[in-house]
Amino acid sequence: MTQKDVWNSWNLSKSADLYGIHEWGAGYFGINEAGDLCIKTEVNKKPITIPFRDIISGITERGMELPVLLRIENFLDSQISRLNESFRKAIKEQAYKGAYRGVFPIKVNQQEQVLQEIARFGGRYHHGLEAGSKAELMAALGVLEDKESCLICNGYKDEEFIDLALNANKMGFNVFLVIEMPSELDLIMERSRILGIEPMLGVRFKLSVQAGGHWSESGGDRSLFGLTSTQIIEAVDRLKDMGKLDCLKLLHFHLASQIPNIRDVRQSVLEAARLYGGLKAEGAAMGYFDLGGGLAVDYDGSQTNYMHSRNYGLDEYTNDIVDVLKTVFDEEEVPHPVIISESGRATVAYYSVLLVNILDTARFEALPLPEKLPEDSPEVVRNMMDIMGDMNRKNLQECFNDAQFYRDQMHQLFKYGQVTLRERSLCENIYLTIIHKIQGFMGQMRRLPPGLEHLTENLADIYYGNFSLFQSLPDVWAIDQIFPVMPLTRLKEAPTRQAIIADITCDCDGQINRFISLKDEERTLPLHELKDDEEYWLGFFLVGAYQETLGDLHNLFGDTNVVSIRIHDDQSFEITRELEGDSVADVLSYVEYNPKTLLENFRQKAEKAVKEGLISPRERQGIVSGYEKSLRGYTYYERENY
Ligand SMILES: *Cc1c(COP(=O)(O)O)cnc(C)c1O
Repeated sequence: MTQKDVWNSWNLSKSADLYGIHEWGAGYFGINEAGDLCIKTEVNKKPITIPFRDIISGITERGMELPVLLRIENFLDSQISRLNESFRKAIKEQAYKGAYRGVFPIKVNQQEQVLQEIARFGGRYHHGLEAGSKAELMAALGVLEDKESCLICNGYKDEEFIDLALNANKMGFNVFLVIEMPSELDLIMERSRILGIEPMLGVRFKLSVQAGGHWSESGGDRSLFGLTSTQIIEAVDRLKDMGKLDCLKLLHFHLASQIPNIRDVRQSVLEAARLYGGLKAEGAAMGYFDLGGGLAVDYDGSQTNYMHSRNYGLDEYTNDIVDVLKTVFDEEEVPHPVIISESGRATVAYYSVLLVNILDTARFEALPLPEKLPEDSPEVVRNMMDIMGDMNRKNLQECFNDAQFYRDQMHQLFKYGQVTLRERSLCENIYLTIIHKIQGFMGQMRRLPPGLEHLTENLADIYYGNFSLFQSLPDVWAIDQIFPVMPLTRLKEAPTRQAIIADITCDCDGQINRFISLKDEERTLPLHELKDDEEYWLGFFLVGAYQETLGDLHNLFGDTNVVSIRIHDDQSFEITRELEGDSVADVLSYVEYNPKTLLENFRQKAEKAVKEGLISPRERQGIVSGYEKSLRGYTYYERENY
């Protein structure tokens, strides 16, 4: 089949396969007959489908512009349900005698509405929170209602932090103070004595097991937090001396985030279970086994142990954990503790989608060549032209090398003033024509000639998206994270262009040139040709975890607009919350400008220009009010409203 045949016979399921929707989407996304990407969910057992197109028009009709971070509340609820139900099932099937109590680690998405929803919806499962700092604990105590939920305090703790946790204990909350450093124990016990409140202590264990994947360093002997087995024994002895060993109730560890391999999960739980047994044998009260985070998200949908994936499903994860714990504790005759896990990424990743409009594209296409070269064309241009005539499928590599050679030569000659600008342009255009011709041959070849593998990438279009990578997808820049990206409409049509995506910061790091694929990573993303009369939208998926507060103000692009929706069982959706993104004045004040002073200074400059006769008083009025309006405006590209 030729490329054209492939395009002509395109259909919806080819789009679904190409973009891997059913692989990474966890059942939350689908395509409708019209070729629009849709949100799929169940409300009151009724299947509901809502196209992103409708959501975007709903948002823009209400006066908000893209980029928008869309939060789908239903997904947060169903992820909490899936996690809790899966643990419940594993516990029931294996006749494990302890309960499951999940906690959400606040650092993964600290937004108030996330915590509120976890407190509200999660209450039915007694789903609690994990705080890694004083501020996070204060947020947790502000929203948590259910007193059967757990509240786990990790991180470095000062007196204030400890007092607050102890007082919350007295108020009836299950607040665990987890000892991360040996020195914390004395401070906690002293505050406990002074306040007269018994602490619920946990201890964080430094595992010897290390996980593969990006965060392999968080485990192992050199990990930053936690106590070694020797330090744990020292802590036990100190508590024994104080007669307070009954305060030690919880064992905590956190192997890594995004653990791709189930074997590492099993190994870490096994090691920690033995340690738990050891603490029981020492006489500690115990009762809670907290295995931290790490449940991975299958970002690329490949179901492998590649770092952006995972080689296990949720049920396998929960079954394996319960299985290891039951086996060890039955063998050691230890009562089954409550299982706590701190899944962050897997709980919130699906919940947010970044919606972006494409502003423009750049193509690397050749212009039509002249029939005949100008009489006086330099030799380098003639040589370049000759390559065209000689090309066939056997000598592509040679042609490519020759083209590279003459192009370099032409650049040299240009620098020494030996070819004119017009001649250089002609030569470059012939070069591009050659490269495209080579690519055309390669399209029909099964095996690419060595050295030419990256040709497609080098000829890929650039699609300019209205967003800042640094603000909205910081992990793409910082740790080479890959997120699924795809068009939200036109999925009936074949995507005929190969593209990379650039943001609108003027930073060359502000681009995405690695995309998910079931085989390996792809360097380009197939997209549709833009139409003059139609917006083209991309969705960036699984961005609910870690992206929001890590984002920064590179080039002074601020927070995007945020819209939360809840989908109802009558196919409607309600906008439950709107947060306007930063204005220009907001971001300027973050870097210590005073917007009022800026406006005043600008006004004075305009007045001076009036005095000098450069602009009229009426023009001054227009210019100054434009400046003032922009201060209040969005930091991203605005199409209308100006
Ligand atoms: C970051 C962190 C988590 C969350 O890990 P995920 O992989 O996002 O589930 C849980 N516990 C602790 C202690 C953490 O530092």
